[in-house]
Amino acid sequence: MTVLMRPKALSDHKVRTYQMLIDGKWLDSQDGRTLERVAPGHGVVVSRYQAASGVDAERAIAAARRAFDAGPWPRMTASERSLILLKAADMIAARADELAFLDAIESGKPISQAKGELGGAADIWRYAAALARDLHGESYNTLGDGTLGVVLREAIGVVSIITPWNFPFLIVSQKLPFALAAGCTTVVKPSELTSASTLVLGEILEAAGVPAGVVNILTGTGPEVGAPMTTHGDVDMISFTGSTGVGRLTMANAARTLKKVSLELGGKNPQIVFPDANLEEFIDAAVFGAYFNAGECCNAGSRLILHRDIAEEVTARIAALSAKVKVGDPLDPETQVGAIITPQHLEKIASYVSAASKDGAAVAHGGEALDLGMGQFMAPTILSQVRPDMAVACEEVFGPVLSVLTFETTDEAIRIANSIDYGLSAGVWSRDFDTCLTIGRRVRAGTVWMNTFMDGASELPFGGYRQSGLGRELGRHAVEDYTETKTLNMHIGARTGWWMPR
Ligand code: NAD
Repeated sequence: MTVLMRPKALSDHKVRTYQMLIDGKWLDSQDGRTLERVAPGHGVVVSRYQAASGVDAERAIAAARRAFDAGPWPRMTASERSLILLKAADMIAARADELAFLDAIESGKPISQAKGELGGAADIWRYAAALARDLHGESYNTLGDGTLGVVLREAIGVVSIITPWNFPFLIVSQKLPFALAAGCTTVVKPSELTSASTLVLGEILEAAGVPAGVVNILTGTGPEVGAPMTTHGDVDMISFTGSTGVGRLTMANAARTLKKVSLELGGKNPQIVFPDANLEEFIDAAVFGAYFNAGECCNAGSRLILHRDIAEEVTARIAALSAKVKVGDPLDPETQVGAIITPQHLEKIASYVSAASKDGAAVAHGGEALDLGMGQFMAPTILSQVRPDMAVACEEVFGPVLSVLTFETTDEAIRIANSIDYGLSAGVWSRDFDTCLTIGRRVRAGTVWMNTFMDGASELPFGGYRQSGLGRELGRHAVEDYTETKTLNMHIGARTGWWMPR
């Protein structure tokens, strides 16, 4: 592992105190409280936010409700909404460096990676703009003479959008443009750890022509401001990405008023590797899949399930490559693994590693926190001799920690892969098509990569089986998720045959 700690341009950064966007106005929280964000890679305050409470949530939800019930947004033509989304996409692309910088300093992710995410996000806004114009219902002229059945698609209403800290701008972009494309109005709450880029998005959307009240942005903690966004009677749908625990709570809150929920939750994703795989390719993919975003990634390939015949060799080669990974200052363009989100989270990651070691796992590389003189960092870590029942093998560690398990038969590999509560994604590596397809069909996960890992595209639906979530984001049905259907059942001319005779 190479350590890069040549502190970059943070001295030029001006700490900003952000306000919240409610009904087209930038406001302080009603009780005047604020929160500070300390950069995980640098240990200094980089942003201040409003700490909203239920009173602010009430104001934002009321604004979204008014904008939906009486404002222009749901009544515009799809073409008009689409043009505004395209304008927003261009403005996101134009401000991509600034937005990437904010995500990098607040989340600790490498700046090169943050720039890549911004490119992906602008593409998603363009894709949503295209889908806006293809949202349509159905008609049935086959229900009998003098009848017509028309199925309309209507915007569902007010949507609460709640996002996590690990991909701040990308995840809000997987939700908001599709809700807007459908004609919904929204209240958005980014993570209290990484709110800056979402607030800048608010500025962009205002400048692009989104009317007041259509996008309201609240900042603050989950219990104080997120929770009221999930219980309020004027909210019609919740789109949540975050931990499985908070997802469960969100669904329970939504049940009180039977709101629709879309949940993108945790993952503990297996990669199953057969002896005939292209190991050269796989080893690169394994290192990337495990340590990308410092492993703070729902899609991290954190469970390797290696065929017994290749396990020793592959583990040694991954350990050797792990040693070359560049860990350090998120703002250094060469950094590959940045900082860990908070000191408490670093402790949690380290405790998984020490528990696994005590339980018989062997550390093939890493295993420790790194002291780089500022911020908090974890060494890329690979653990061998892990058993499927160990916590490190079935719980979401959410750090750069790779567990190696082994198998002998295909059935055994599938059994291990499916033995946990999550089902977000999986990978299979083999030159044999039948083997790949068998794994692809039998592993219970929303995405299965074959001889690749973590590729994505705006056109491909993404989401999880079982406790990894409910619903799918992206893909051509993404706008439909934010709609209801309404059936218009029409009869033309006189009708006979009612139940009561005249
Ligand atoms: P988290 O669940 O702690 O927080 C997510 C969001 O929910 C934050 O904005 C938080 O403030 C808010 N929140 C917290 N408590 C709340 C409450 N009681 N009511 C309403 N909102 C509340 O998750 P996190 O630590 O920010 O993110 C990491 C988690 O997100 C991991 O489990 C990861 O797997 C998951 N994730 C999933 C996907 C996916 O697409 N499946 C993508 C990214 C992250």
